[in-house]
Amino acid sequence: MEILQKCSGVLLGLLLLQGCAQKSTWYRGNTHAHTVICGHADSSPQLVTQWYHDHGYNFLILSEHNHFINPDSVKMPVSLRDNFILIPGEEISGPKIIHSTAMNIEKLVLPDKGLEIKSHIIQNHVDITREAGGRSILNHPNYRYAVSQGDILPVNGLNMFELYNGHPLVANNGDGEHISTEALWDSLLTRGMPVFGVSSDDAHYFATIDSAHSNPGRGWVMVNASELTGDAIAQAMYHGSFYASNGVMLDYCSIKNGKYRVRVNVAQTMDELTSTELKGRLVEATEPGFTIEYIGHKGEVLFTTNNSRADFLISGVSHYVRPRISYFRDHPSGGSEAFFAWGQPEFTDGRKLQE
Ligand SMILES: [Zn+2]
Ligand SMILES: [Zn+2]
Repeated sequence: MEILQKCSGVLLGLLLLQGCAQKSTWYRGNTHAHTVICGHADSSPQLVTQWYHDHGYNFLILSEHNHFINPDSVKMPVSLRDNFILIPGEEISGPKIIHSTAMNIEKLVLPDKGLEIKSHIIQNHVDITREAGGRSILNHPNYRYAVSQGDILPVNGLNMFELYNGHPLVANNGDGEHISTEALWDSLLTRGMPVFGVSSDDAHYFATIDSAHSNPGRGWVMVNASELTGDAIAQAMYHGSFYASNGVMLDYCSIKNGKYRVRVNVAQTMDELTSTELKGRLVEATEPGFTIEYIGHKGEVLFTTNNSRADFLISGVSHYVRPRISYFRDHPSGGSEAFFAWGQPEFTDGRKLQE
């Protein structure tokens, strides 16, 4: 796998210190999974950990509702790989169905349940997560359409949200009245918010695998980090050094010499797509194969190719550009099923992350 350090503007401060050639590795992880502790899932923390370990993941967050699972309390797999860790976390579950993954926290954090304004609830999650040494991901905005653009824009210090959540009750694609999470993403980016898209499982059921259950293996992130520690992974994600996937795997997805470069790992993607846990998006009949698009301001598609690799010159792009890589295959319904990898936006307008 080709390894490249993402040299984006938001990383500039780090890179000045570290140099752009620092070695880094892609790590596969899931930031969102539940256990019997929440009362509506079917497996113990140990079994959930075992599933991700045995399926080749490098990290997992056991993200229980308002409950902190200390990784030291979890019995790890017998033949534990040395490239697998649990990152401490929790799913902060506040009023108005607003949930956030508190990633890499040091202790239990509890939301202020007296708040009523949605942007204040999200801000509370961001703030208490940061106070506990962690980073916040706003979860499933389209679960019962609880969170909209107007709720997110006023929040300070939030720069990750769940673009894809594998729970069958989460309407990632929207409906006739609500926009998709991807359209929401472009809307936030277009209004100047530096925000990155995460893909997660939100898994609850490990013993029953079917499309009606929230199963593992449907959404994950590939993080380009300097080492496999909670701090390094959280820091890399916070700065956008990752891509999100629900089926498509990449060799690289990074900036080099003024170009945003993407190359699909075709063999690995084909292997992933044999998984019965995956759920594609049903779309109208489309020629089978890969499509790489570069998407910019207001969600405009700036470039499209049906090749499995593409380089896109960033100079001249206004505000931001992000790659989306799709794979289409025939579906028994007569239409097609689409799977994706979503690269993170590169900002060309100087917008800054809050440190
Ligand atoms: Zn949730
Ligand atoms: Zn959850």
